[in-house]
Amino acid sequence: MAELKLRGARKSYGSVEIIKGLDLDVEDREFVVFVGPSGCGKSTLLRMIAGLEKITAGDLLIDGVRANDIDPSERGLAMVFQSYALYPHMTVAENMGFALKIAGVSAAEKERKVREAAEVLQLSHLLRQRQRVAIGRAIVRNPKVFLFDEPLSNLDAALRVSMRLELMCLHEHLAATMIYVTHDQTEAMTMADKIVVLNGGSIEQVGSPLDLYIRPANIFVAGFIGSPKMNLLKLKVAATGPKGVSVTLPDGQALTVPVAAGASKSGDELLLGMRPEHLRISANGQFKGRAVLAERLGSLTILHVEVAPEVTLVVQAEGGDRTPLHSPIALDISPSACHLFRTDGPALASLCNRREPWAHSLKPEN
Ligand code: ADP
Ligand code: MG
Repeated sequence: MAELKLRGARKSYGSVEIIKGLDLDVEDREFVVFVGPSGCGKSTLLRMIAGLEKITAGDLLIDGVRANDIDPSERGLAMVFQSYALYPHMTVAENMGFALKIAGVSAAEKERKVREAAEVLQLSHLLRQRQRVAIGRAIVRNPKVFLFDEPLSNLDAALRVSMRLELMCLHEHLAATMIYVTHDQTEAMTMADKIVVLNGGSIEQVGSPLDLYIRPANIFVAGFIGSPKMNLLKLKVAATGPKGVSVTLPDGQALTVPVAAGASKSGDELLLGMRPEHLRISANGQFKGRAVLAERLGSLTILHVEVAPEVTLVVQAEGGDRTPLHSPIALDISPSACHLFRTDGPALASLCNRREPWAHSLKPEN
């Protein structure tokens, strides 16, 4: 059992508040990822959990016990950093066993645990992988919760991808609770059971990767999760009604998005959000324009389509797409795939059950 709760957790340095009152539940065996831009407070929050930073206000509960004042070494947590501290004069096995030696564990016990960790990590044959060693050092302590602070960001791209898969296997194998910090939305999407999106010391949204992708609660999450990014187009409300909110498109037509108007009324500005893969090239599409740039990636093509002066939509087309540049084309989108956001951030509540991202492109509309 290893569950962790934060209740109203705050951290200030002097008069500057860095963590602004967070509530969060991390369940037993969950892989939770803290993601957000640099400086948003991810490391600070992780260090508060580890006990390396004092919690200014609020509570940290580990397995139901208030842990604010428990010594870091007594919390049963193990942390792996980006800039891991290894002792170069020691062998890999000595490095892995170092924490145990300090803790006064017997030599036989230490050797057994190091060997087990080495087998899990296939270290026996790959003894030079320093990051694996750092993770090994955490494993031998058999912690309640593993804490990772951007452990892969020093590695090159290929190694990062393979270590990512390795960490996911490790999570499965150890059935351990893990909290993982990254600024990389791809790492968050691929590894997490639960993503916590942080921004300026506050939580923007918590959910599974697909939850956040399909139902972003606000502009920040909509823009941060997903690559290429969601298109956001500032438009005026033409009308509101029981079927949704109609916005005026660049060519003057109205598009009715099935969302609740809330306080929005005719004439207000809203942001229309459209995922690149939900826009389709179609002769009768709502957006008329010209492709000005094509990124051909083989498996797919990213088209940049100018639909009004200075307004470009990013469209994800098929790998075999042959759309010519600078010729007139039109783009179509299902209204149920569209999002509307208030200019100050929050999403307007959907009136339909949002479908999985791929469902919109299974069959053509009309
Ligand atoms: P992240 O890990 O998300 O990049 P950090 O948690 O490292 O962000 O930092 C969050 C904010 O807290 C930053 O603005 C940083 O400058 C500030 N900060 C971090 N540590 C200290 C400290 N010891 N004293 C004052 N400010 C700090
Ligand atoms: Mg950090």
